Amino acid sequence: MKLAELYGKERVVFSVEVFPPNKNFSIDTVYNAVNEIAEIRPDYFSVTYGAGGNTANRSTCEIASHIKNKCGIEAMAHLTCINSTKSDVDFVLSDLKANGIENILALRGDVKPDEEPKNDFPHASDLAAYISSKGDFDIAGACYPEVHIDAKNQKEDILNLKKKVDSGVSHLVTQLFFNNDAFYDFREKAGIAGIEVPISAGIMPITSKKQIERMVSMCGASLPPKFVKMIQRYENNREALIDAGIAYAVDQIIDLISNGIDGIHLYSMNNPYVAKRVYEAIRKLL
Ligand code: FAD
Repeated sequence: MKLAELYGKERVVFSVEVFPPNKNFSIDTVYNAVNEIAEIRPDYFSVTYGAGGNTANRSTCEIASHIKNKCGIEAMAHLTCINSTKSDVDFVLSDLKANGIENILALRGDVKPDEEPKNDFPHASDLAAYISSKGDFDIAGACYPEVHIDAKNQKEDILNLKKKVDSGVSHLVTQLFFNNDAFYDFREKAGIAGIEVPISAGIMPITSKKQIERMVSMCGASLPPKFVKMIQRYENNREALIDAGIAYAVDQIIDLISNGIDGIHLYSMNNPYVAKRVYEAIRKLL
């Protein structure tokens, strides 16, 4: 099923993101996590894609295929383009198609410091347009409520986002954020720019201080005072921090649903315990 069909109904779409294993772990560790998270029956899973070339990233397709064909749940495969040639992308598209995957999150990916970017697809909008021309896939795109780190300002970023949507993107998934007001401000400005596709809000329940530091340095999410105080209070008590992180995420989600969000995209970090606890707290609200 194409995910565009899920949006615009009475329900809030609930999705869960997982990532392939790093080289120290087998793919079975991810299958085990997926199988457990699948018990809550999210509307779909998304599977991230590494920064490397096509064959190194076959696990994205394998995991998406497991989700779709073994668990019977829709899967969206992430695909980055900045370090890929057109033939790399063609390889992945035919692999996904052969495995029955119909949904792709079209991404630029990050420029690698030690590698010249390939020039076939400089922006995610170029990849979206290319995939769209094939006609086989539903295409999602990423968006940044607190502005993408490479963008000069929010206006430019939103105008670029409009180009991406116009290239064939049917729905958007946000970068993680902890400040709902920043999201509402972004949503309003995107609407004024003519971006009318559904948006899923990316929510990450925090489970460790290290995780926060890594995420914030990577994506620049702002930390509201309430959130900072919570981390300070529980940073040395792992179990309490997990409880507090889940409670914060649930609080954010309730506010988002009350304010008409189209979807909630849970950055699960492959952690079934956290995914299940969040879902249990919000399932009747969806
Ligand atoms: P783009 O949409 O191309 O935007 C990147 C920058 O270029 C922005 O500053 C934008 O304003 C600008 N821009 C866009 N179009 C144009 C244009 N036509 N002309 C001029 N400027 C333009 N990374 C991974 O490696 N693997 C993953 O699986 C992955 N999953 C992600 C999932 C989500 C939901 C999100 C939010 C991010 C994910 N990322 C992933 C990170 C992402 O690859 C990086 O944030 C990357 O730097 C930008 O990707 P993008 O698709 O948003 O790029």
